[in-house]
This record gives sequence, structure tokens and C-alpha cells, in this order.
Amino acid sequence: MASRHRSRELFGKAKGLMPGGVSSPVRAFPPHPLYISKGKGSRIWDADGNELIDYCMAFGPLILGHAPPAVVKALAVQAKLGTLYGAPIEKEIEMAELIRRHYPSAEMMRFVSSGTEATMHVLRLARGYTGKDRFIKVEGAFHGAHDSVLVKAGSGATTHSVPNSIGIPAEVTRNTLLVPFNDLDAVKRTIKENKGEVAALITEPIIGNAGPILPEERYLKGLRELTAEEDVLLILDEVITGFRLAMGGAQELFRIKADLMTLGKIAGGGLPIGIFAGPEEIMSHISPRGKVYQAGTFSGNPMSLTAGLATLRELERVGYEDLNGKGERMRNGLKEVLEDLRLDYTVEGIGSMYQLFLSKGPIRNYEDAKKSDTALFTKLFDLLLEKGIYLPPSQFETNFLSTAHTDEDIEFTIKAFEEALREVTR
Ligand SMILES: *Cc1c(COP(=O)(O)O)cnc(C)c1O
Repeated sequence: MASRHRSRELFGKAKGLMPGGVSSPVRAFPPHPLYISKGKGSRIWDADGNELIDYCMAFGPLILGHAPPAVVKALAVQAKLGTLYGAPIEKEIEMAELIRRHYPSAEMMRFVSSGTEATMHVLRLARGYTGKDRFIKVEGAFHGAHDSVLVKAGSGATTHSVPNSIGIPAEVTRNTLLVPFNDLDAVKRTIKENKGEVAALITEPIIGNAGPILPEERYLKGLRELTAEEDVLLILDEVITGFRLAMGGAQELFRIKADLMTLGKIAGGGLPIGIFAGPEEIMSHISPRGKVYQAGTFSGNPMSLTAGLATLRELERVGYEDLNGKGERMRNGLKEVLEDLRLDYTVEGIGSMYQLFLSKGPIRNYEDAKKSDTALFTKLFDLLLEKGIYLPPSQFETNFLSTAHTDEDIEFTIKAFEEALREVTR
């Protein structure tokens, strides 16, 4: 057994200082999370000096791996010039121009500090612009941790949604209408039942927050057509998929154009960021030009823009072919392992995103994903950790590859999965 004394000791202290010992619940796992003291390339090292191949990659932002030289160098330069001014900087323009070049729907944008803020404000904008209060949300899609999107999935909740956190007034989530992913009829029905009251439909184009769940052939195009016909704004939350699948995200890949969109994660190059964007016609309603209020001390933060620009320029340079090829090899390798071991589980993913669902599949939506054997996942997770593989600690997250992962990393990981699966299913 790898020694985890130091992590255990630190967690012992942290438990008395932070609820559950962590700053975000997804980081917690039993018996205690690992404290990370260093990251470089595809690797992280915990406080006891254990080296791990990382597929969590901070839940998505680190597409170039940990501490990529170009980003570290740019940050060092900016830090000396000051980290925050509370005034505009030229890098906002450079970043906005770069984003607009890749996202036709991002004519104008605003920089905020997290994906949560981006979706909160984009929904306020959609409501303010249309003068309608309701919006449709897809079950299993995650849009951050603010009130109106923290809504439980479940049948019968489609009209009067129940919040899945206490402390959220039911009046707030009553206006959040739920539909399953990959179900256009449900969208049609929901719009019809709420005729004239639906401001927008928001979804992740690929559900990344329940493990990767892919849209079926006609789904995104269907959403685009339906919302356009019914005068409902289509909001694509590309906080994970933006700059992950292609420079132009899922919209480039699936050739669709949202009315409004959000970015985050990769766009900040490992520093906090959120972005919401849309056509001038809608974005001009944001304060100080319009009457939809949005503000933030750390918005358009020089450090985040610096790391983001360095990352995006590097991505423009290296492209996605190599990275996505690694994802393909990982998924194929895992599928072969399942065949060899005669295991009826499902490998899902696209580009550099993957997950092994411990269920038969197919995984079309949140309900399908939830059928996975989570007790078995915990065993698999523990064994892989012991073998030097660090996954996001949940079956319902996406594993991410970075440009820093090598072919050897992938070979090693597939082998580790094989050994671990053999052990846990024995
Ligand atoms: C991570 C995520 C968010 C929230 O972003 P934060 O920066 O964690 O607030 C919103 N939407 C999607 C699709 C995400 O994956």
C-alpha cells in the first residue's frame, strides 16, 4: 500500500476547518482525499510523494497538462506587472477577438470569474431580453451551483421542479422546466405546455457532468430547429466542451450555432474564468449599455486572461488531431479490455473525454448513467489509485486527457484498468 500518512493527517485538520474538509464537494472521497503538492505534465504528486497519472485534470481546465511552460512563463511576466487593476486591459480585447474568431455565436461577450457566474448571468440575460421567466434545463446537465439550475432530475418534476439543495426557495426553481437529454419530444411538449413563457433552453451539448453522454445524430440540430421555430433562445453551455473538442467547441464539431453560449474551464488556462457571449442584439442589454445587471471585482482578471490566452494560442498552434487520437486510443484500449474480460460495461466519450460506465448501456441520458454500479466504481477507483492512476472520484464525471499525456501513459493506464477490472469482478 502506498503511504498516505500526510494526506490523512492534513485531512484530519481540514475536517475541522472546512465542511467535509474540502473547498468543493466533488473533491471528497473516502477515506480521505489526497493532498496534492505538485503537478507537471500528465502527473501529480501527493503530499506523501506518490506519483500519479492524472485524468481528472482539475475537472477539465488543464488541456495542456499541469504547469505548461508557455503558461507559467506568461503568468510570471503578468504577476510582476500587477495581478488586478479594476480597470480594463488590452488582453480582454485580444481574448474577445480570439474567441469570436472561433465561435460565430460569440459576437460580444463578458468575462466573469467562474462557469457558475457565466450561466447565472446568461440566464438572467435571456430572461431580461425576452421578458419571460421560465427556462428548460436538461436532466443531468450541470451549469454550476446557483439556485435556478440546481434542480433534481425525476419524473413529474417537469413542470414543478424540486430543488436538490435545501435553502433554495421552490418559487425559484418552479420556473426551471426539466427534460431528459436526447428527447426532442419532451422539449416540444414542454414548450407547448408553457406556451409564451419559456425564455430559453440551456444544455451542455455533450453532457460532461454525468460522465460523457453524447447527443444522438439529430438531437442538437433538432434542438436548434425547435427553439428557433418556437422563439425560445438556445443556450449552449460549453464550459467543458469549449476548446476541448475543437477550437470552436461542440458548435464547430456539430455545426450548430447557439443564440447564447458560455465558456469557462480551459479558457482560463488553469485560472478562474467564465465567459458568456451572444449577438450584439442580445448582449447590448447588459449593463452599463442595458438594464440587465452584472458585475464582478475579479471579472476580466489579468492573470486568468494571461493564462487563458497562452493556452488558447498554444492550442491554435498544436491543433486537436494528436490529442483526440489519444482519446481514441484510450477508448479503444478500454473496449478491448472489456471484450477480453467478457464484461458487459460501456466505454463512452469523444475527443479527449472518456469514461468507463459500469453498466450495460447504451448511455443516452442521466437515468441510463445512474444505472451504473457505483459500489464497484469505488473499488475500481481505489485499485487504480493504488496503481498510480488518478481519476475524478466519481462515476458521474468525465476523465480528461491532455496534450501532455504520452502513449506510454495511455498503455500503462489501459493495463492498469485491465488488472483492476480483473480483480474487482473476480
Ligand atoms: C464546471 C461547469 C460549470 C461551472 O463552472 P465553475 O467554474 O465550476 O463555476 C458550468 N457548466 C458546465 C458545463 C461545467 O462543466
